[in-house]
Amino acid sequence: MTPDEFQKFYPPLLNWLEMTLDAYSTAAQTVASRGFPRLPLYFSANTLASTKVALVDQLPIPPLSSMGLTRFVDFERGNFDGITYLDTFFLKQAQAKNEAMHFHELIHVIQWSLLGPDRFLFAYANGLEQFGYRESPLEVMAYDAERAFTSSSTIFDAERLVATKLS
Ligand SMILES: [Zn+2]
Repeated sequence: MTPDEFQKFYPPLLNWLEMTLDAYSTAAQTVASRGFPRLPLYFSANTLASTKVALVDQLPIPPLSSMGLTRFVDFERGNFDGITYLDTFFLKQAQAKNEAMHFHELIHVIQWSLLGPDRFLFAYANGLEQFGYRESPLEVMAYDAERAFTSSSTIFDAERLVATKLS
């Protein structure tokens, strides 16, 4: 995706994101309130207090095709268990107690925050286009960190890890 093309889709996409977060604002709870034991060892108290999670039956996915972005149709139809927009992530109800899943989406929250929405969306779209969902660089970073979280009790600063990988 060229920067010119991205500039065309960015305003309607951002508008959709803001309207979606607004619509779920009362249903969303802070991650801190979910009371997971390990997340505070990897993320700052501030991050866990400012990040929100909404448990839903159906994940809200932007209507990319109707915005004219037809080449992400696989992503649009994908059956995911979670997705992150800015400081809020959405999880299927079945993942409510899945701490690793919360960890994975928190990695995306840090990516959104450090890159800003324009650079996050541009990088995410290009990653999807070039490598597919699972091998896109922002997903590889989240899956690798999630694996480090689940496979070992060694504590690391997840926010610094993301900052280092993005720099
Ligand atoms: Zn992910």
